Amino acid sequence: MRPSVKKIRLLLGNAAYRDAVWLGLAGFVFWLVAIAFDAHDSMHDFILTHEHWELDEIILAIAAMGIAGFIYGYRRIVDLNKEIGLRDTAEDKVAWIANHDSLTSLPNRHFLESNYKSRNAHGRSALTPEMVASVDLDGFKQVNDLLGHSAGDELLVATAERLKSAVGDGLVVRMGGDEFVLLIHTAPKNPVSFGNLVIRKLSEPLVINGVQVKISGSVGLAVAGRARDLDTVVREADMAMYVAKRSGRNAVAVFTPDMEQGFLRRAECELELRRAIKKNRIVPHYQPLIDLGTGKTCGFEALARWTDKFGPGYTPDVYIPLAEDLGLIVELSEQILRRACLDAKKWPRDLDLSFNISPTQLTDRLLGLRIVQILGETEFPPQRLQIEITESAIAKDSDTAFRIISDLRASGIRVVLDDFGTGYSSLAQLSRFEFDGIKIDREFIASFLNDEKQMKIIRAIICLAKGLNAKTTAEGVETDSQVFALRKIGCDIVQGYFFAKAMPASEVQGYLADNTFDPKANQESA
Ligand code: C2E
Ligand code: MG
Ligand code: MG
Repeated sequence: MRPSVKKIRLLLGNAAYRDAVWLGLAGFVFWLVAIAFDAHDSMHDFILTHEHWELDEIILAIAAMGIAGFIYGYRRIVDLNKEIGLRDTAEDKVAWIANHDSLTSLPNRHFLESNYKSRNAHGRSALTPEMVASVDLDGFKQVNDLLGHSAGDELLVATAERLKSAVGDGLVVRMGGDEFVLLIHTAPKNPVSFGNLVIRKLSEPLVINGVQVKISGSVGLAVAGRARDLDTVVREADMAMYVAKRSGRNAVAVFTPDMEQGFLRRAECELELRRAIKKNRIVPHYQPLIDLGTGKTCGFEALARWTDKFGPGYTPDVYIPLAEDLGLIVELSEQILRRACLDAKKWPRDLDLSFNISPTQLTDRLLGLRIVQILGETEFPPQRLQIEITESAIAKDSDTAFRIISDLRASGIRVVLDDFGTGYSSLAQLSRFEFDGIKIDREFIASFLNDEKQMKIIRAIICLAKGLNAKTTAEGVETDSQVFALRKIGCDIVQGYFFAKAMPASEVQGYLADNTFDPKANQESA
Protein backbone atom coordinates (compact mmCIF):
# COMPACT_ATOMS: atom_id res chain seq x y z
CA MET A 1 0.00 0.00 0.00
CA ARG A 2 1.28 3.49 -0.85
CA PRO A 3 2.28 5.49 2.32
CA SER A 4 -0.10 8.41 1.51
CA VAL A 5 -3.11 6.07 1.13
CA LYS A 6 -2.12 4.27 4.31
CA LYS A 7 -1.97 7.62 6.13
CA ILE A 8 -5.44 8.72 4.94
CA ARG A 9 -6.91 5.38 6.01
CA LEU A 10 -5.27 5.72 9.40
CA LEU A 11 -6.59 9.27 9.78
CA LEU A 12 -10.16 8.31 8.88
CA GLY A 13 -10.02 5.33 11.17
CA ASN A 14 -9.09 7.61 14.06
CA ALA A 15 -11.92 8.79 16.39
CA ALA A 16 -10.34 12.22 17.06
CA TYR A 17 -10.19 12.99 13.36
CA ARG A 18 -13.75 11.77 12.82
CA ASP A 19 -15.02 13.96 15.69
CA ALA A 20 -13.19 17.00 14.33
CA VAL A 21 -14.70 16.47 10.87
CA TRP A 22 -18.27 15.93 12.24
CA LEU A 23 -18.11 18.91 14.62
CA GLY A 24 -16.75 21.14 11.84
CA LEU A 25 -19.59 20.04 9.56
CA ALA A 26 -22.22 20.53 12.30
CA GLY A 27 -20.85 24.06 12.96
CA PHE A 28 -20.98 24.90 9.30
CA VAL A 29 -24.60 23.67 8.96
CA PHE A 30 -25.57 25.58 12.10
CA TRP A 31 -24.01 28.75 10.63
CA LEU A 32 -25.90 28.29 7.35
CA VAL A 33 -29.21 27.78 9.22
CA ALA A 34 -28.50 30.89 11.33
CA ILE A 35 -27.95 32.94 8.16
CA ALA A 36 -31.13 31.55 6.60
CA PHE A 37 -33.25 32.51 9.64
CA ASP A 38 -31.56 35.86 10.28
CA ALA A 39 -30.54 34.55 13.71
CA HIS A 40 -27.86 37.19 14.20
CA ASP A 41 -30.33 40.11 14.21
CA SER A 42 -32.73 38.24 16.48
CA MET A 43 -29.91 37.51 18.89
CA HIS A 44 -28.74 41.14 18.79
CA ASP A 45 -32.26 42.33 19.66
CA PHE A 46 -32.51 39.75 22.42
CA ILE A 47 -29.20 40.86 23.96
CA LEU A 48 -30.29 44.54 23.89
CA THR A 49 -33.66 43.81 25.50
CA HIS A 50 -31.97 41.73 28.20
CA GLU A 51 -29.03 44.04 28.87
CA HIS A 52 -29.08 43.26 32.60
CA TRP A 53 -28.30 39.54 31.88
CA GLU A 54 -24.82 40.53 30.60
CA LEU A 55 -25.33 38.26 27.60
CA ASP A 56 -22.72 40.05 25.46
CA GLU A 57 -19.98 39.32 28.06
CA ILE A 58 -21.10 35.69 28.30
CA ILE A 59 -21.00 35.30 24.49
CA LEU A 60 -17.54 36.93 24.38
CA ALA A 61 -16.32 34.46 27.02
CA ILE A 62 -17.82 31.55 25.05
CA ALA A 63 -16.14 32.82 21.85
CA ALA A 64 -12.76 33.10 23.65
CA MET A 65 -13.18 29.58 25.02
CA GLY A 66 -14.10 28.36 21.52
CA ILE A 67 -10.89 29.82 20.06
CA ALA A 68 -8.84 28.31 22.91
CA GLY A 69 -10.63 24.98 22.34
CA PHE A 70 -9.84 25.22 18.62
CA ILE A 71 -6.14 25.82 19.35
CA TYR A 72 -6.20 22.97 21.86
CA GLY A 73 -7.84 20.64 19.31
CA TYR A 74 -5.40 21.67 16.60
CA ARG A 75 -2.43 21.00 18.86
CA ARG A 76 -3.81 17.54 19.80
CA ILE A 77 -4.24 16.75 16.13
CA VAL A 78 -0.60 17.70 15.48
CA ASP A 79 0.40 15.39 18.38
CA LEU A 80 -1.72 12.64 16.91
CA ASN A 81 -0.03 13.11 13.56
CA LYS A 82 3.33 12.64 15.23
CA GLU A 83 2.08 9.51 17.01
CA ILE A 84 0.87 8.08 13.72
CA GLY A 85 4.26 8.84 12.16
CA LEU A 86 6.04 7.05 15.02
CA ARG A 87 3.68 4.08 14.78
CA ASP A 88 4.29 3.94 11.05
CA THR A 89 8.07 3.90 11.55
CA ALA A 90 7.76 1.24 14.28
CA GLU A 91 5.57 -0.93 12.05
CA ASP A 92 8.00 -0.54 9.16
CA LYS A 93 10.82 -1.49 11.53
CA VAL A 94 8.99 -4.59 12.75
CA ALA A 95 8.25 -5.59 9.15
CA TRP A 96 11.93 -5.05 8.25
CA ILE A 97 13.15 -7.09 11.20
CA ALA A 98 10.73 -9.91 10.38
CA ASN A 99 11.94 -10.00 6.78
CA HIS A 100 15.65 -9.35 7.17
CA ASP A 101 18.69 -10.81 8.82
CA SER A 102 20.02 -8.30 11.34
CA LEU A 103 23.68 -9.27 10.89
CA THR A 104 24.01 -8.98 7.12
CA SER A 105 20.87 -6.87 6.43
CA LEU A 106 19.95 -9.39 3.73
CA PRO A 107 16.33 -10.56 3.25
CA ASN A 108 15.74 -13.74 5.24
CA ARG A 109 13.91 -17.06 4.93
CA HIS A 110 10.64 -15.49 6.12
CA PHE A 111 10.86 -12.91 3.33
CA LEU A 112 11.35 -15.62 0.74
CA GLU A 113 8.64 -17.88 2.12
CA SER A 114 6.11 -15.07 2.33
CA ASN A 115 6.84 -14.42 -1.35
CA TYR A 116 6.24 -18.03 -2.39
CA LYS A 117 2.50 -17.60 -2.44
CA SER A 118 2.07 -13.85 -2.86
CA ARG A 119 0.93 -12.70 -6.28
CA ASN A 120 0.94 -9.25 -7.84
CA ALA A 121 -2.06 -7.54 -9.53
CA HIS A 122 -1.53 -9.68 -12.67
CA GLY A 123 -1.62 -12.92 -10.68
CA ARG A 124 2.11 -13.50 -11.09
CA SER A 125 4.53 -14.29 -8.31
CA ALA A 126 5.99 -11.15 -6.79
CA LEU A 127 9.46 -12.66 -7.19
CA THR A 128 10.12 -14.28 -10.57
CA PRO A 129 13.81 -15.09 -10.94
CA GLU A 130 14.98 -16.96 -14.01
CA MET A 131 17.47 -18.92 -11.97
CA VAL A 132 17.95 -19.76 -8.30
CA ALA A 133 21.27 -20.64 -6.67
CA SER A 134 21.55 -22.28 -3.27
CA VAL A 135 24.91 -21.63 -1.60
CA ASP A 136 26.35 -23.30 1.48
CA LEU A 137 29.74 -22.33 2.88
CA ASP A 138 32.38 -24.98 3.48
CA GLY A 139 34.62 -24.38 6.45
CA PHE A 140 32.45 -21.76 8.14
CA LYS A 141 31.95 -23.89 11.25
CA GLN A 142 35.68 -24.27 11.73
CA VAL A 143 36.18 -20.49 11.58
CA ASN A 144 33.37 -20.04 14.09
CA ASP A 145 34.73 -22.71 16.42
CA LEU A 146 38.38 -21.77 16.19
CA LEU A 147 38.33 -17.99 15.89
CA GLY A 148 35.14 -17.25 17.82
CA HIS A 149 31.64 -16.08 16.96
CA SER A 150 32.61 -12.49 16.21
CA ALA A 151 35.01 -13.77 13.54
CA GLY A 152 32.20 -15.96 12.20
CA ASP A 153 29.95 -12.89 12.05
CA GLU A 154 32.60 -10.92 10.20
CA LEU A 155 32.94 -13.74 7.71
CA LEU A 156 29.18 -13.82 7.10
CA VAL A 157 29.04 -10.08 6.49
CA ALA A 158 31.91 -10.35 4.00
CA THR A 159 30.19 -13.33 2.35
CA ALA A 160 26.97 -11.33 1.97
CA GLU A 161 28.90 -8.56 0.18
CA ARG A 162 30.66 -11.05 -2.09
CA LEU A 163 27.41 -12.75 -3.03
CA LYS A 164 25.74 -9.41 -3.72
CA SER A 165 28.55 -8.51 -6.08
CA ALA A 166 28.07 -11.85 -7.87
CA VAL A 167 24.30 -11.53 -8.48
CA GLY A 168 24.31 -7.96 -9.82
CA ASP A 169 20.68 -6.77 -9.83
CA GLY A 170 19.51 -10.11 -8.38
CA LEU A 171 18.66 -10.74 -4.77
CA VAL A 172 20.66 -12.48 -2.02
CA VAL A 173 18.68 -14.10 0.79
CA ARG A 174 20.25 -15.49 3.99
CA MET A 175 18.35 -18.63 4.85
CA GLY A 176 20.12 -19.08 8.19
CA GLY A 177 23.58 -20.14 9.41
CA ASP A 178 25.88 -20.30 6.42
CA GLU A 179 23.14 -20.97 3.84
CA PHE A 180 22.20 -18.42 1.19
CA VAL A 181 19.81 -18.36 -1.73
CA LEU A 182 20.47 -16.17 -4.77
CA LEU A 183 17.60 -15.09 -7.02
CA ILE A 184 19.00 -14.27 -10.43
CA HIS A 185 16.69 -12.25 -12.66
CA THR A 186 18.35 -13.04 -15.98
CA ALA A 187 19.66 -16.58 -16.24
CA PRO A 188 23.21 -16.70 -17.59
CA LYS A 189 23.83 -18.76 -20.74
CA ASN A 190 26.13 -21.05 -18.81
CA PRO A 191 24.84 -21.64 -15.27
CA VAL A 192 27.96 -23.59 -14.25
CA SER A 193 30.27 -20.68 -15.04
CA PHE A 194 28.05 -18.48 -12.87
CA GLY A 195 28.39 -21.07 -10.08
CA ASN A 196 32.16 -21.01 -10.48
CA LEU A 197 32.15 -17.23 -10.30
CA VAL A 198 30.31 -17.44 -6.96
CA ILE A 199 32.85 -19.96 -5.67
CA ARG A 200 35.78 -17.81 -6.84
CA LYS A 201 34.33 -14.83 -4.98
CA LEU A 202 33.77 -16.88 -1.82
CA SER A 203 37.25 -18.40 -1.90
CA GLU A 204 39.08 -15.07 -1.95
CA PRO A 205 41.23 -14.97 1.20
CA LEU A 206 40.01 -12.80 4.03
CA VAL A 207 41.92 -11.57 7.07
CA ILE A 208 40.02 -11.69 10.35
CA ASN A 209 41.70 -10.76 13.63
CA GLY A 210 45.07 -10.97 11.89
CA VAL A 211 44.40 -14.57 10.74
CA GLN A 212 44.04 -15.35 7.06
CA VAL A 213 40.82 -17.29 6.59
CA LYS A 214 40.08 -19.17 3.41
CA ILE A 215 36.68 -20.73 2.97
CA SER A 216 34.86 -22.14 0.01
CA GLY A 217 31.32 -23.02 -0.90
CA SER A 218 29.03 -25.51 -2.59
CA VAL A 219 26.61 -24.12 -5.15
CA GLY A 220 23.40 -25.73 -6.41
CA LEU A 221 21.59 -24.18 -9.38
CA ALA A 222 18.04 -24.57 -10.68
CA VAL A 223 16.69 -22.85 -13.76
CA ALA A 224 13.09 -21.66 -13.43
CA GLY A 225 10.91 -22.38 -16.42
CA ARG A 226 7.67 -20.48 -17.07
CA ALA A 227 4.90 -20.74 -14.48
CA ARG A 228 6.96 -22.70 -11.98
CA ASP A 229 6.49 -22.01 -8.31
CA LEU A 230 9.35 -20.26 -6.63
CA ASP A 231 9.32 -22.75 -3.73
CA THR A 232 9.80 -25.65 -6.16
CA VAL A 233 12.76 -23.94 -7.83
CA VAL A 234 14.35 -23.13 -4.44
CA ARG A 235 13.88 -26.76 -3.33
CA GLU A 236 15.52 -27.99 -6.55
CA ALA A 237 18.45 -25.61 -6.10
CA ASP A 238 18.82 -26.95 -2.52
CA MET A 239 18.91 -30.53 -3.79
CA ALA A 240 21.57 -29.59 -6.35
CA MET A 241 23.56 -27.90 -3.58
CA TYR A 242 23.53 -31.08 -1.44
CA VAL A 243 24.75 -33.04 -4.44
CA ALA A 244 27.53 -30.48 -4.98
CA LYS A 245 28.46 -30.62 -1.29
CA ARG A 246 28.71 -34.37 -1.30
CA SER A 247 31.06 -34.29 -4.26
CA GLY A 248 33.56 -32.21 -2.30
CA ARG A 249 34.52 -28.61 -1.68
CA ASN A 250 34.14 -25.88 -4.29
CA ALA A 251 31.63 -27.87 -6.32
CA VAL A 252 28.80 -26.65 -8.54
CA ALA A 253 25.80 -28.79 -9.53
CA VAL A 254 22.83 -27.96 -11.75
CA PHE A 255 19.53 -29.60 -10.82
CA THR A 256 18.44 -32.60 -12.86
CA PRO A 257 15.29 -34.65 -12.16
CA ASP A 258 17.32 -37.73 -11.17
CA MET A 259 18.59 -35.79 -8.16
CA GLU A 260 15.16 -36.10 -6.64
CA GLN A 261 15.69 -39.86 -6.80
CA GLY A 262 19.02 -39.39 -5.01
CA PHE A 263 17.21 -37.68 -2.17
CA LEU A 264 14.73 -40.47 -1.89
CA ARG A 265 17.72 -42.82 -1.71
CA ARG A 266 19.20 -40.79 1.14
CA ALA A 267 15.93 -41.11 3.00
CA GLU A 268 16.14 -44.86 2.34
CA CYS A 269 19.74 -44.87 3.56
CA GLU A 270 18.59 -43.21 6.79
CA LEU A 271 16.00 -45.90 7.25
CA GLU A 272 18.49 -48.67 6.49
CA LEU A 273 21.06 -47.14 8.82
CA ARG A 274 18.57 -47.17 11.68
CA ARG A 275 17.82 -50.84 10.95
CA ALA A 276 21.51 -51.73 10.54
CA ILE A 277 22.36 -50.22 13.92
CA LYS A 278 19.42 -51.95 15.56
CA LYS A 279 20.55 -55.29 14.15
CA ASN A 280 24.29 -54.78 14.79
CA ARG A 281 25.11 -54.96 11.10
CA ILE A 282 27.86 -52.33 11.18
CA VAL A 283 31.01 -53.99 12.46
CA PRO A 284 34.66 -53.07 12.87
CA HIS A 285 37.27 -54.18 10.37
CA TYR A 286 40.91 -53.82 11.28
CA GLN A 287 43.78 -52.10 9.46
CA PRO A 288 47.27 -52.90 10.78
CA LEU A 289 49.65 -50.35 12.28
CA ILE A 290 53.32 -51.22 11.68
CA ASP A 291 56.13 -50.20 14.02
CA LEU A 292 58.96 -48.95 11.78
CA GLY A 293 61.55 -49.73 14.46
CA THR A 294 60.79 -53.45 14.67
CA GLY A 295 58.91 -54.03 11.44
CA LYS A 296 56.16 -55.74 13.43
CA THR A 297 52.48 -55.05 13.59
CA CYS A 298 51.95 -53.08 16.79
CA GLY A 299 48.18 -52.72 16.62
CA PHE A 300 45.09 -52.31 14.46
CA GLU A 301 42.81 -49.39 13.77
CA ALA A 302 39.12 -50.33 13.95
CA LEU A 303 37.25 -48.94 10.93
CA ALA A 304 33.49 -49.24 10.69
CA ARG A 305 32.17 -51.41 7.83
CA TRP A 306 28.56 -51.88 6.83
CA THR A 307 28.55 -55.49 5.82
CA ASP A 308 24.99 -56.42 4.93
CA LYS A 309 23.50 -56.29 1.45
CA PHE A 310 22.84 -52.55 1.72
CA GLY A 311 26.35 -51.82 2.92
CA PRO A 312 28.41 -51.80 -0.27
CA GLY A 313 28.37 -48.31 -1.66
CA TYR A 314 28.13 -46.66 1.71
CA THR A 315 31.49 -45.70 3.17
CA PRO A 316 32.11 -44.51 6.74
CA ASP A 317 32.54 -40.99 5.35
CA VAL A 318 28.83 -41.17 4.44
CA TYR A 319 27.18 -43.08 7.25
CA ILE A 320 29.24 -41.83 10.21
CA PRO A 321 28.20 -38.17 9.57
CA LEU A 322 24.67 -39.42 8.82
CA ALA A 323 24.61 -41.25 12.15
CA GLU A 324 25.80 -38.01 13.77
CA ASP A 325 23.01 -36.04 12.06
CA LEU A 326 20.42 -38.57 13.17
CA GLY A 327 21.69 -38.63 16.76
CA LEU A 328 22.63 -42.31 16.44
CA ILE A 329 26.38 -41.96 16.73
CA VAL A 330 26.63 -42.79 20.45
CA GLU A 331 24.74 -46.05 19.98
CA LEU A 332 26.70 -46.97 16.86
CA SER A 333 30.07 -46.10 18.36
CA GLU A 334 29.37 -48.08 21.55
CA GLN A 335 28.37 -51.10 19.49
CA ILE A 336 31.55 -50.98 17.39
CA LEU A 337 33.82 -50.38 20.39
CA ARG A 338 32.26 -53.27 22.35
CA ARG A 339 32.75 -55.59 19.41
CA ALA A 340 36.30 -54.31 18.74
CA CYS A 341 37.34 -54.85 22.37
CA LEU A 342 36.03 -58.42 22.28
CA ASP A 343 37.92 -59.07 19.01
CA ALA A 344 41.12 -57.39 20.21
CA LYS A 345 41.13 -59.51 23.38
CA LYS A 346 41.94 -62.49 21.12
CA TRP A 347 45.04 -60.82 19.64
CA PRO A 348 48.53 -61.09 21.16
CA ARG A 349 48.74 -58.91 24.25
CA ASP A 350 51.31 -56.52 22.79
CA LEU A 351 48.91 -55.35 20.05
CA ASP A 352 46.95 -52.16 20.56
CA LEU A 353 43.45 -51.26 19.43
CA SER A 354 43.01 -47.85 17.85
CA PHE A 355 39.47 -46.47 17.82
CA ASN A 356 38.00 -43.37 16.13
CA ILE A 357 35.75 -40.92 17.95
CA SER A 358 33.65 -38.51 15.92
CA PRO A 359 33.44 -34.76 16.60
CA THR A 360 29.96 -34.72 18.17
CA GLN A 361 30.99 -37.40 20.65
CA LEU A 362 33.70 -35.13 21.94
CA THR A 363 31.07 -32.71 23.23
CA ASP A 364 29.55 -35.44 25.40
CA ARG A 365 30.90 -35.08 28.95
CA LEU A 366 30.06 -38.68 29.72
CA LEU A 367 32.17 -40.03 26.86
CA GLY A 368 35.12 -41.00 29.11
CA LEU A 369 32.77 -42.82 31.46
CA ARG A 370 31.03 -44.65 28.62
CA ILE A 371 34.35 -45.87 27.19
CA VAL A 372 35.65 -46.98 30.58
CA GLN A 373 32.37 -48.81 31.20
CA ILE A 374 32.72 -50.76 27.91
CA LEU A 375 36.32 -51.62 28.78
CA GLY A 376 35.09 -52.93 32.14
CA GLU A 377 32.27 -54.95 30.54
CA THR A 378 34.55 -56.53 27.94
CA GLU A 379 37.54 -56.78 30.32
CA PHE A 380 39.82 -55.10 27.78
CA PRO A 381 42.82 -53.35 29.41
CA PRO A 382 42.71 -49.54 28.98
CA GLN A 383 46.48 -49.52 28.35
CA ARG A 384 45.88 -51.31 25.05
CA LEU A 385 43.29 -48.84 23.81
CA GLN A 386 44.15 -45.75 21.80
CA ILE A 387 41.47 -43.17 20.96
CA GLU A 388 41.80 -41.19 17.70
CA ILE A 389 40.33 -37.71 17.62
CA THR A 390 40.55 -35.04 14.95
CA GLU A 391 41.64 -31.42 15.38
CA SER A 392 38.30 -30.00 14.34
CA ALA A 393 36.61 -32.21 16.93
CA ILE A 394 38.63 -30.56 19.68
CA ALA A 395 37.77 -27.13 18.39
CA LYS A 396 34.04 -27.77 18.64
CA ASP A 397 33.91 -27.45 22.42
CA SER A 398 37.48 -27.32 23.59
CA ASP A 399 36.70 -27.17 27.34
CA THR A 400 34.64 -30.35 27.24
CA ALA A 401 37.20 -31.99 24.94
CA PHE A 402 39.93 -31.05 27.42
CA ARG A 403 38.02 -32.73 30.25
CA ILE A 404 37.29 -35.85 28.22
CA ILE A 405 40.91 -36.20 27.09
CA SER A 406 42.13 -35.74 30.66
CA ASP A 407 39.62 -38.37 31.91
CA LEU A 408 40.68 -40.85 29.24
CA ARG A 409 44.39 -40.38 29.91
CA ALA A 410 43.82 -40.64 33.65
CA SER A 411 42.20 -44.06 33.02
CA GLY A 412 45.32 -45.22 31.17
CA ILE A 413 43.86 -44.83 27.65
CA ARG A 414 46.13 -43.16 25.10
CA VAL A 415 44.85 -40.31 22.93
CA VAL A 416 46.10 -39.67 19.40
CA LEU A 417 45.48 -36.67 17.17
CA ASP A 418 44.12 -38.00 13.84
CA ASP A 419 44.37 -36.43 10.35
CA PHE A 420 46.96 -33.94 11.61
CA GLY A 421 47.67 -31.16 9.12
CA THR A 422 44.16 -30.87 7.73
CA GLY A 423 41.68 -28.27 8.90
CA TYR A 424 43.00 -25.62 11.22
CA SER A 425 46.04 -27.01 13.00
CA SER A 426 46.74 -24.87 15.97
CA LEU A 427 49.89 -25.00 18.03
CA ALA A 428 47.87 -23.59 20.92
CA GLN A 429 45.81 -26.79 20.86
CA LEU A 430 48.91 -28.93 20.87
CA SER A 431 50.30 -27.09 23.85
CA ARG A 432 47.04 -27.21 25.82
CA PHE A 433 46.13 -30.86 25.18
CA GLU A 434 48.39 -33.77 25.92
CA PHE A 435 48.57 -36.33 23.12
CA ASP A 436 50.34 -39.65 23.06
CA GLY A 437 50.60 -39.61 19.30
CA ILE A 438 50.04 -37.65 16.10
CA LYS A 439 48.75 -39.23 12.89
CA ILE A 440 49.93 -37.34 9.82
CA ASP A 441 47.09 -37.02 7.31
CA ARG A 442 47.26 -39.19 4.22
CA GLU A 443 47.15 -36.14 1.92
CA PHE A 444 50.70 -35.25 3.02
CA ILE A 445 51.89 -38.81 2.64
CA ALA A 446 50.48 -39.05 -0.89
CA SER A 447 52.67 -36.23 -2.18
CA PHE A 448 55.67 -35.78 0.12
CA LEU A 449 58.13 -37.73 -2.03
CA ASN A 450 57.63 -35.42 -5.00
CA ASP A 451 57.08 -32.24 -3.09
CA GLU A 452 59.97 -30.74 -1.18
CA LYS A 453 57.64 -28.47 0.79
CA GLN A 454 55.46 -31.37 1.99
CA MET A 455 58.61 -33.25 2.97
CA LYS A 456 59.72 -30.29 5.09
CA ILE A 457 56.31 -30.16 6.74
CA ILE A 458 56.43 -33.86 7.60
CA ARG A 459 59.93 -33.49 9.03
CA ALA A 460 58.72 -30.56 11.13
CA ILE A 461 55.69 -32.52 12.39
CA ILE A 462 57.92 -35.45 13.39
CA CYS A 463 60.33 -33.10 15.15
CA LEU A 464 57.45 -31.35 16.94
CA ALA A 465 55.94 -34.68 18.04
CA LYS A 466 59.29 -35.88 19.40
CA GLY A 467 59.58 -32.65 21.38
CA LEU A 468 56.12 -33.30 22.82
CA ASN A 469 56.99 -36.92 23.60
CA ALA A 470 54.36 -38.16 21.16
CA LYS A 471 54.71 -40.93 18.59
CA THR A 472 54.11 -40.18 14.92
CA THR A 473 52.03 -42.38 12.65
CA ALA A 474 51.88 -41.87 8.89
CA GLU A 475 48.55 -42.95 7.38
CA GLY A 476 47.79 -43.75 3.75
CA VAL A 477 51.19 -45.34 3.02
CA GLU A 478 50.89 -47.05 -0.35
CA THR A 479 54.44 -47.65 -1.61
CA ASP A 480 57.70 -49.06 -0.28
CA SER A 481 59.57 -45.83 -1.10
CA GLN A 482 57.16 -43.95 1.17
CA VAL A 483 57.84 -46.48 3.96
CA PHE A 484 61.60 -46.16 3.74
CA ALA A 485 61.60 -42.41 3.39
CA LEU A 486 59.36 -42.16 6.45
CA ARG A 487 61.63 -44.47 8.41
CA LYS A 488 64.64 -42.40 7.43
CA ILE A 489 63.13 -39.16 8.71
CA GLY A 490 62.19 -40.73 12.04
CA CYS A 491 58.49 -41.61 11.73
CA ASP A 492 57.53 -44.25 14.33
CA ILE A 493 54.50 -46.06 12.90
CA VAL A 494 53.01 -46.52 9.42
CA GLN A 495 49.59 -47.61 8.16
CA GLY A 496 48.21 -47.98 4.67
CA TYR A 497 47.29 -50.15 1.71
CA PHE A 498 50.98 -51.03 1.21
CA PHE A 499 50.59 -53.33 4.22
CA ALA A 500 46.88 -54.14 4.17
CA LYS A 501 43.43 -52.70 3.83
CA ALA A 502 41.03 -53.00 6.75
CA MET A 503 40.14 -56.70 7.17
CA PRO A 504 37.40 -58.54 9.01
CA ALA A 505 38.20 -59.88 12.49
CA SER A 506 38.35 -63.43 11.13
CA GLU A 507 41.36 -62.56 8.92
CA VAL A 508 43.51 -60.87 11.57
CA GLN A 509 45.18 -64.04 12.92
CA GLY A 510 46.04 -65.18 9.37
CA TYR A 511 47.51 -61.77 8.58
CA LEU A 512 49.64 -61.81 11.71
CA ALA A 513 50.99 -65.28 10.88
CA ASP A 514 51.85 -64.47 7.25
CA ASN A 515 53.16 -60.95 7.36
CA THR A 516 56.55 -59.93 8.50
CA PHE A 517 58.25 -56.84 7.28
CA ASP A 518 61.95 -56.01 7.37
CA PRO A 519 62.21 -52.30 8.05
CA LYS A 520 65.91 -52.25 7.16
CA ALA A 521 65.47 -53.78 3.69
CA ASN A 522 65.57 -51.48 0.69
CA GLN A 523 67.04 -48.73 2.89
CA GLU A 524 69.32 -47.50 0.20
CA SER A 525 66.53 -46.83 -2.25
CA ALA A 526 64.98 -44.20 0.00
P1 C2E B 1 40.59 -42.17 9.44
O1 C2E B 1 40.46 -42.41 10.89
O2 C2E B 1 41.62 -41.16 9.02
O3 C2E B 1 40.83 -43.57 8.81
C1 C2E B 1 41.71 -43.83 7.80
C2 C2E B 1 41.00 -43.92 6.49
O4 C2E B 1 41.98 -44.00 5.47
C3 C2E B 1 40.15 -45.18 6.35
O5 C2E B 1 39.06 -44.89 5.50
C4 C2E B 1 41.07 -46.13 5.63
O6 C2E B 1 40.41 -47.16 4.93
C5 C2E B 1 41.77 -45.16 4.69
N1 C2E B 1 43.08 -45.66 4.29
C6 C2E B 1 43.91 -46.41 5.00
N2 C2E B 1 45.02 -46.67 4.29
C7 C2E B 1 44.89 -46.04 3.10
C8 C2E B 1 45.73 -45.92 1.94
O7 C2E B 1 46.83 -46.44 1.87
N3 C2E B 1 45.27 -45.17 0.91
C9 C2E B 1 44.05 -44.59 0.97
N4 C2E B 1 43.65 -43.87 -0.09
N5 C2E B 1 43.23 -44.67 2.04
C10 C2E B 1 43.66 -45.38 3.11
P2 C2E B 1 37.61 -45.30 5.90
O8 C2E B 1 37.60 -46.63 6.53
O9 C2E B 1 36.76 -45.05 4.72
O10 C2E B 1 37.28 -44.26 7.05
C11 C2E B 1 37.15 -42.93 6.79
C12 C2E B 1 36.98 -42.15 8.06
O11 C2E B 1 35.76 -42.51 8.69
C13 C2E B 1 38.04 -42.46 9.10
O12 C2E B 1 39.17 -41.72 8.82
C14 C2E B 1 37.37 -42.07 10.37
O13 C2E B 1 37.49 -40.68 10.59
C15 C2E B 1 35.91 -42.40 10.08
N6 C2E B 1 35.59 -43.66 10.73
C16 C2E B 1 35.81 -44.92 10.30
N7 C2E B 1 35.35 -45.81 11.20
C17 C2E B 1 34.85 -45.11 12.23
C18 C2E B 1 34.24 -45.44 13.50
O14 C2E B 1 34.06 -46.60 13.86
N8 C2E B 1 33.83 -44.41 14.29
C19 C2E B 1 34.02 -43.13 13.93
N9 C2E B 1 33.60 -42.21 14.76
N10 C2E B 1 34.60 -42.77 12.78
C20 C2E B 1 35.01 -43.74 11.94
MG1 MG C 1 41.57 -42.73 12.32
MG1 MG D 1 43.11 -40.43 9.69
